[in-house]
Amino acid sequence: MRTLLQVLFRTNALDDRVRRTLVETLYTQPSSLAIGALGGIATTCVAAWVTGQPALTDAAAALSIVALARVLTAYLMRRRERRDTRALELFFEIGAFSYALMVGVVAALAVHLDAPTVAQLMTVCNAMCYGVGIAARNAGRPVIAIGQLLLAMMPPVIAFFMQGTFAYIVLAISVAIVVPAMIGIALNVFRTLRNSIAAAETSARLAQKMQVLARSDVVTGLLNRAGLNHELVERLARMAPDRKLALFWIDLDRFKEVNDTLGHQVGDRLLAEVANRLRNITPEDSTVARFGGDEFIVACETADRREAEMLAHQMMDEISRPMRVDEDRLEIAASMGIGLLPDDGEDLDALLQAADLALYRSKVNGRKQISFFDPSMTRNLVRRREIEAELRLALQRDELSIFFQPIVDLETGRIRAFEALVRWFHPEKGELRPDEFIPVAEETGAIITLGNWITGQAARAAAHWPEDVTIAVNLSPLQIKAPGAALGILNALRDARLEPSRLELEITETVLLDHSQNTESFINELAQAGVRFALDDFGTGYSSLGYLNKYPFSKIKVDRSFVSGIHQGKKSRAIIRAVSSMGATLGMEIVAEGLETLEQVNAVREAGCTLGQGYYFSRAVPDYLAAMLLAKERERDEPKRLANG
Ligand code: C2E
Ligand code: CA
Ligand code: CA
Repeated sequence: MRTLLQVLFRTNALDDRVRRTLVETLYTQPSSLAIGALGGIATTCVAAWVTGQPALTDAAAALSIVALARVLTAYLMRRRERRDTRALELFFEIGAFSYALMVGVVAALAVHLDAPTVAQLMTVCNAMCYGVGIAARNAGRPVIAIGQLLLAMMPPVIAFFMQGTFAYIVLAISVAIVVPAMIGIALNVFRTLRNSIAAAETSARLAQKMQVLARSDVVTGLLNRAGLNHELVERLARMAPDRKLALFWIDLDRFKEVNDTLGHQVGDRLLAEVANRLRNITPEDSTVARFGGDEFIVACETADRREAEMLAHQMMDEISRPMRVDEDRLEIAASMGIGLLPDDGEDLDALLQAADLALYRSKVNGRKQISFFDPSMTRNLVRRREIEAELRLALQRDELSIFFQPIVDLETGRIRAFEALVRWFHPEKGELRPDEFIPVAEETGAIITLGNWITGQAARAAAHWPEDVTIAVNLSPLQIKAPGAALGILNALRDARLEPSRLELEITETVLLDHSQNTESFINELAQAGVRFALDDFGTGYSSLGYLNKYPFSKIKVDRSFVSGIHQGKKSRAIIRAVSSMGATLGMEIVAEGLETLEQVNAVREAGCTLGQGYYFSRAVPDYLAAMLLAKERERDEPKRLANG
């Protein structure tokens, strides 16, 4: 009895969702209810008609009314989906109990009134079948199942007893024992049902939790790539046709430097702060995601381009507002690319590609910028793809060659070195700038083969020059990190029979930023062999003076933007002066790049630069012209030397 009560009432403690599922089982298949009702009405009405007793006729009429009302309500309830569980249950209970009672009472009456055998058979069979069948059908709610079982079965049992004959008493007892057996079966079915529903619920909830986890980024709590995809697909599906979807692709500028200099923890904190700011500044229902590394994507509906632009500026301002991470006060800038759907792309892939291309434009244009997609970007992409495909063949087809640009002593005017600059003469596209194809080579890894070839060619040319003229070769970061990189260079020198001290490798600061062991041993190994190093493009990057102490640079090349470009002015003159005096102290030469006019030459010489390079002296020329320049210079100097000697 205790376990029965426990089972009956523990359901109250059950999670409401499980309970609801169980209650809903009552309303599934209202057709079974209808069939039962029809059978009930038919048998009781026929029995009443055969018997001809008013009491039985009244009972049959009452039963028919209840049965019809139940079928009707069951169909109505099924349509209203969001009713509350308790109301559903109560409704069902009232109908179920009254119908079961009517079935039981009709059977009891037929027995009690000594109705014709066929009428007794009809009503009693109806009550038995109904009681047993309903206990199984409604096992999802045992209170109802057992209640109906008792109400349908007990009145005829009592009526059998009251008949008092031996046969009727045996009948009463044998029917009565069916009742507890059926209760047991109903409870068993209920337990199994409840447990499996609960288990299904638990695993469904677990699956949902896992899905949320799989779709979010741990560092920032934003959506990750998978989450972004999922949400964008859903967004598009529910978007009104007259609205636009703006997709902002944001890339933090120089985030790698923060990571490398301040550590990954600070980097992560910074990302989390940027995420927070983006979440706060974007409209309520925006999608905000971290797209890996230091890239973020924001998507939101917008009325037009102007609105998107305004939001873009707000986001950029938010990101670049100084932030405090631990002890550090950090400032980070960002580049942004924007694509609009449907203007720039009809589907998600096209939209993402549009924003990506726009971002690329922002980065190429010097970062810290916002660019909207425009169709010319696709053409550039196509060209990039072509370059990527053709670069592999360019070496084999002999389309690449090395040009040499003199680096001149600003005191004497003599050529002290040549910088090797690669050129690609494409049969259809004409001359391609290294700025266009070197980044592609870096992306595809082709730079390793290409770089080795350049070093070899440059060294071979330099071997023919006078011994005091050196050759400068540009190195990409990837070349330095490749295994056996130092050995490759030493081999190239040996093959060309060039003294290591006549080779100068130009590297940019980005190479040094990651403090990798490989970079350090590469530089040290080659420096020990006598190879020299120059710090290229000084002033455009991080410009950390710490590197100058740490690595054996013999030259600093001040970027041409300080000489002829954007930075030109008093301030850049002061910077050149400062770098020059530091170079003098550390025993390094300072090269001014991009000298195009005599004024510039005079200015940088006055500021303390010792060497100069630029169109004023010469453009990069093929090897035979480089050799000719040197020969002319020697010719000019020969009389002087003879005179001096
Ligand atoms: P960089 O190392 O700063 O090379 C100097 C660039 O400035 C060269 O462009 C040169 O032609 C250009 N230049 C020289 N004098 C002047 C001037 O007076 N005015 C102006 N406006 N420009 C001048 P280039 O050859 O197009 O090379 C561009 C960049 O491509 C180089 O910049 C270098 O970073 C890269 N690069 C070139 N050749 C190689 C190479 O063989 N290997 C690698 N890894 N990178 C290379
Ligand atoms: Ca260079
Ligand atoms: Ca340079």
